[in-house]
Amino acid sequence: MDDLLAGDFYGFQGLLTEREDAAVRALRDYLEAEVRPLADDFWARAEFPVQVARPLGGLGVLGTLWEETRAFPGSAVYRGWLMLELSRVDAGVGAFVGISSGLVMGALGVGGSAEQRAEWLPRLATGELVGAFGLTEPLSGSDSARGLRTTAERTADGWVLNGAKRWIGNATFADVTVIWAKDVADGQVKGFLVEKGTPGFAATRIENKVSLRSVQNADITLNDVVIPEARRLQRIDSFRDVATILRLTRADVAWQAIGVAIGAYEAAVRYAGSGSSSGSRSGRTSSCRTSSSGAWATSPRASPCACACRSCTTRAPSATSTRRSRRPTRRRACARRSAGLARCSAATASCSSTASRGSSPTPRPSTPTRAPGR
Ligand SMILES: Cc1cc2nc3c(=O)[nH]c(=O)nc-3n(C[C@H](O)[C@H](O)[C@H](O)COP(=O)(O)OP(=O)(O)OC[C@H]3O[C@@H](n4cnc5c(N)ncnc54)[C@H](O)[C@@H]3O)c2cc1C
Repeated sequence: MDDLLAGDFYGFQGLLTEREDAAVRALRDYLEAEVRPLADDFWARAEFPVQVARPLGGLGVLGTLWEETRAFPGSAVYRGWLMLELSRVDAGVGAFVGISSGLVMGALGVGGSAEQRAEWLPRLATGELVGAFGLTEPLSGSDSARGLRTTAERTADGWVLNGAKRWIGNATFADVTVIWAKDVADGQVKGFLVEKGTPGFAATRIENKVSLRSVQNADITLNDVVIPEARRLQRIDSFRDVATILRLTRADVAWQAIGVAIGAYEAAVRYAGSGSSSGSRSGRTSSCRTSSSGAWATSPRASPCACACRSCTTRAPSATSTRRSRRPTRRRACARRSAGLARCSAATASCSSTASRGSSPTPRPSTPTRAPGR
């Protein structure tokens, strides 16, 4: 089997099962054929190629964590590797999946009732529907546990939402946006499924972004938005549940960063070896050295961190799911990987402290059980 990455010094590929390896290669083939040719143009126009949603659904990339939507019960490393592949070609497409699949399907998986899961998860998984996740506000970002100003008021008809959200990815075109708001009665954060076109809900694109240009970030306003009780996430009781959802996606962000670094490194190597008309090959090589060495230095060292983080935010990769027995040359790589993991212990300390709290607060994502910790 060919190596997936030139810089996989710790042999993480050896942790993928044959089926996972094949699924990663199928995704890579699609991305190279259909997304890479579009990516620069969409980046320049600051638009998102919405046509990727259904093919990504068909490739099993959306909803990999949930029993009713995953193609097969893949490992944590496999799920992370998918994010790596997406971001290696286009960080915007990686962010799209991180939001619609990771955060929105995460909100439904953790906080939705059985009926809500059945109604929304399958259509989000095929890419028929796209989701957005509205937590951040103009005056509240990393302090959203306490700082949310958007309100939810219980009425005879359901709930009335008022407030504003900012930076909400996918929101300009999403079919459903999860809005997090504070219940004026008990002060607790609750989640609401707000469908496109709901009166009082408006999403306006934030212009002139420098990074992640293809991601459609929006300012959202909510003016007396009426939501029925059936659209309130039934298993969300407080911000603690929101934190559970965010924790499920944290390692994906690390894998995305690794994918971007690897993509940058590969592009630099391609450029250095190409016969472009400007500058000598040695000149190009030298000019690329600084940027590529940064990416090169980052990606193999970061991978163990993402793996470790992934393991504690979901579950550790099962020994039986590895291909080490079929790939004896990977044994040394595994030893190096362990050394890498040890070096990353400081970086993953926060994850480890989460994992070491005995009975894990992380839900078993494949089961439609109530989110733990309550
Ligand atoms: C491209 C993009 C996409 C996004 N997509 C979404 C989305 O889909 N949904 C969504 O809800 N949000 C989204 N966001 C918002 C993102 O989650 C927030 O930017 C993030 O939560 C940080 O909030 P903030 O920008 O208000 O920064 P702040 O909270 O103001 O933080 C700014 C800096 O101050 C530091 N800081 C803050 N408080 C403290 C403290 N008490 N002590 C020490 N340091 C502190 C932070 O670490 C950070 O470095 C997106 C943002 C971007 C840029």
